[in-house]
Amino acid sequence: MRQSQLFTKTRREAPADEVSKNAQLLIRAGYIHKEMAGVYDLLPLGLRTFEKVVQIIREEMNNIGGVELHLSALQDPRIWKATDRWNDERVDAWFKTELKGGGELGLGFTHEEPLTLLMREQLSSWRDLPTYPYQFQTKFRNETRAKSGLMRTREFVMKDLYSFSKDEAEHAQFYEKAAEAYKRVFERIGLGEKTYMTFASGGSFSKYSHEFQTVCEAGEDVIYIDEASQLAINKEVYDDPEVYRTTGINKAMLKEAKAIEVGNIFTLGTRFSDALGLVYKDQEGSNKPVFMGSYGIGPARVMATVAELMADDKGLVWPTSIAPFRVHLIQLGEEGEVKKEAQELYEQLQTAGVDVLFDDRDLRAGEKFADSELIGIPLRVVVSQKTLAAGEFECVERSTGATHHRSLSDLLQYLSSSHA
Ligand code: ATP
Ligand code: MG
Repeated sequence: MRQSQLFTKTRREAPADEVSKNAQLLIRAGYIHKEMAGVYDLLPLGLRTFEKVVQIIREEMNNIGGVELHLSALQDPRIWKATDRWNDERVDAWFKTELKGGGELGLGFTHEEPLTLLMREQLSSWRDLPTYPYQFQTKFRNETRAKSGLMRTREFVMKDLYSFSKDEAEHAQFYEKAAEAYKRVFERIGLGEKTYMTFASGGSFSKYSHEFQTVCEAGEDVIYIDEASQLAINKEVYDDPEVYRTTGINKAMLKEAKAIEVGNIFTLGTRFSDALGLVYKDQEGSNKPVFMGSYGIGPARVMATVAELMADDKGLVWPTSIAPFRVHLIQLGEEGEVKKEAQELYEQLQTAGVDVLFDDRDLRAGEKFADSELIGIPLRVVVSQKTLAAGEFECVERSTGATHHRSLSDLLQYLSSSHA
């Protein structure tokens, strides 16, 4: 993409009412736009990073047998009344609205109910199970606290996967697989080392659930980390002696940390299948309730977490796996030969399959470099009269500041090597 065609502008200052670091940086760098408290738009750069996060999650969900679908955001109250989750006293996050002709609708805050009901038309025999539908779908939540930028918004896309199994044992096998897939997701996104599988309350469904908590000062949660097992315990179950019996963790060894819940996995059991009549015929021909689980990740919250943790005083620093572009190609100077060389390199990189943002704007070097540092693309490649004379491009790593001079073939080789 040519930067001259990218309509977003970088800004020196974030909006005065924006308190969170992730939103300040993402707004200043032109990734997102604030509509109102807790509601943001994804601008072109933001959408590219968001889509990269989504694609990593999609690959890992497909890898464990996930099947993608897309459910509606508008929800029929009748289904939610059947599970007693329509009442505002039971669920305080609802956005509800009225139909012109009378009657109410809800804007979905999760999708257990409609998917369970939908599955009644699809699942009837033990042969149909297990199955793992998932989606990337917009949730609406009337969050009272919406001060953490993209981390807690009132409208957000969630990856929600639901498992439908024949019994608890089959469910437990998949639950393990899902936990492994989540670990791979967070490793690929660059959060692996700071993310702990965390014992948390199971809510009304089961004794425990598991959260994936990334250690970060900006986090809203408090967890207790056991380095030996690489597990953690959420504050909400810290005083429950059973959690130590279950995990074998020694309470005395735990270290307290603030963390962000980037994902979670839940055993639902037969709560929804019982309430909505989702049964299957087992091999003996008798009716059994389907055993369920749910598995969520918020891609925008993940993106905000990376922004919080990896930024420096100059701006954002993206890991290669989710950067909006791999290379920020910067043309310095308007001389004909510089323009020609930069244009050629732009085309060669694209031919080689490298995502490039090409800064072809007629601006001072200082401005271009400051923008580049704020935007945070992993590798900056400069074309100028100086680099033309040297016969090599100047390449600067955003994360370390390391500078190398590379010929075209060296650069292409570097970009195709696995560590790049
Ligand atoms: P939290 O405890 O942070 O309120 P939750 O337990 O309600 O989240 P789920 O409903 O299970 O979370 O959602 C699954 C995932 O969706 C979370 O792990 C998080 O990554 C993301 N998520 C939840 N709420 C929001 C929100 N308001 N804005 C952005 N992402 C969210
Ligand atoms: Mg939670």
